[in-house]
Amino acid sequence: MFTSDEIKITPGMQRYIDKNNAYLAKRDQYIRDVVKKWKFDTIAVHGLYTVQDALEDYQGAIIEPIFMSSSQAYRDADEMAAALAYLIPTWCYSRIANPSTYYYEWTLALLEGYGFKGDTSCCSTSSGMAAIMTAVQPFLVHKRHHVHEPRNFLATAQCYGGTFQQFKVRMMEERDIECRWVQNPANIDEWASQIDENTRFLYGELPSNPQQGFFDIAAVADLAHSRNLPLIVDSTVATPALLRPICHGADIVVQSATKSLTSSGFGICGAVIARKNLICRVDNDDLKQDFALYVKYLPNRDYGPNLHPLQAIMTLNDVRTLRSKMDMLSRNTLKVSEFLSRHPQVERVEYLGLPEHPLHELASKYMWLVDAEYDEQYGKPVNRYGHLMSFCVKGGVEATRKAFDGLQRIWRATDLGRIKSVATIPAISTHLQQGEAGRQLAHIPPNLIRLCVGGEHPDDIIADLDQALNKVKTKTAVGTPAAVR
Ligand SMILES: *Cc1c(COP(=O)(O)O)cnc(C)c1O
Repeated sequence: MFTSDEIKITPGMQRYIDKNNAYLAKRDQYIRDVVKKWKFDTIAVHGLYTVQDALEDYQGAIIEPIFMSSSQAYRDADEMAAALAYLIPTWCYSRIANPSTYYYEWTLALLEGYGFKGDTSCCSTSSGMAAIMTAVQPFLVHKRHHVHEPRNFLATAQCYGGTFQQFKVRMMEERDIECRWVQNPANIDEWASQIDENTRFLYGELPSNPQQGFFDIAAVADLAHSRNLPLIVDSTVATPALLRPICHGADIVVQSATKSLTSSGFGICGAVIARKNLICRVDNDDLKQDFALYVKYLPNRDYGPNLHPLQAIMTLNDVRTLRSKMDMLSRNTLKVSEFLSRHPQVERVEYLGLPEHPLHELASKYMWLVDAEYDEQYGKPVNRYGHLMSFCVKGGVEATRKAFDGLQRIWRATDLGRIKSVATIPAISTHLQQGEAGRQLAHIPPNLIRLCVGGEHPDDIIADLDQALNKVKTKTAVGTPAAVR
């Protein structure tokens, strides 16, 4: 794979190749016979890092080592030639690969592929935006000598503000690649009617940030495959602890690992996870065979949006407890959203976990706490909806800002997925650049507050929200007739 025909394999190179093939066969057998049989939590805690790895190579370190080194040395010319031709596993240069990012990639590939019958692989990236770029660009290449051919793709209009900008400004305005927005992605006909012979992929975010958009993954995946197209899903808000789109037919998942996967808030990072043997209209066998490894070893080698090894291990440390954390945060969020939906200063609450949400039933088909049936506490499957929610404050923009400014425990920041509760007003922050028309397209009114409930006791978060919202009530009451008061 990824090797040009020009390479002459010397007997010395062949010895290295044989040795490494034996190593790879052993590793793949270990994955098949041992790791794939573990429960989710065990994979999250250990990934592919073994006691044997530690004792043989890393002086017994129980945590995966952070390899800050820029590059790797080789024993001789044969080993170097084999490595740089990608004929043996190597990390040669940290822009291309690195042992610390290797463990990160395997853990995320295995978690996102948990319960999936086929194989998955992962390419780490320096951010969620870099993951999206990495996932979509390879499908937008021109056929040789056809530089003027029109190209388009479909994407859910309800998406992260950065994604909206990447697709609208960087693709449409700067590169003339048409992004066809899907306004109501729960309507499969809206997807179907926008696909034509120049479409390259379908892209969907779910649950969407901040408005809790959702769609039927299996139905959209079936549609995509029937037209020879891949489906790419941004599953940042759910994380693999609550939803694994590849198990439902999606081909590629992008993660802003910055968010819930790094709930401590230490840094920025991303990942592209793909199933093997993709369906697509691009004529490139390496790409189809193993998309994540292809982008890792070729396009990302040339563009360089790669993850730092220190960041990889910091994120891995947060991922080890992902399942129980997402359970706790989801339960806290449900409690807070129930409180807010009863609050007189709140116009409406958007949370997929609330039975009155129009997409509750659809989301309940897909969003389950992984392994709840093996959990002593539950012993059966339970739905969990994550820790992103939003609500609209009564009284317009001014009342919204007042309630927001009144928060004392909840942090005002354009952030989410934290162990600390965080709130933002998307219209003046994450979704500011896209303008009023863009916000209308994405259903983001100016009085919407996005709230990400953390690991505090939910009673304390509820008390903070209550005092902030009650400040609005008192203020608007001033100056109104005594009878009303
Ligand atoms: C934050 C976010 C991104 C972008 O990720 P970065 O790590 O900030 O680059 C993409 N998608 C979603 C849903 C996000 O919340």
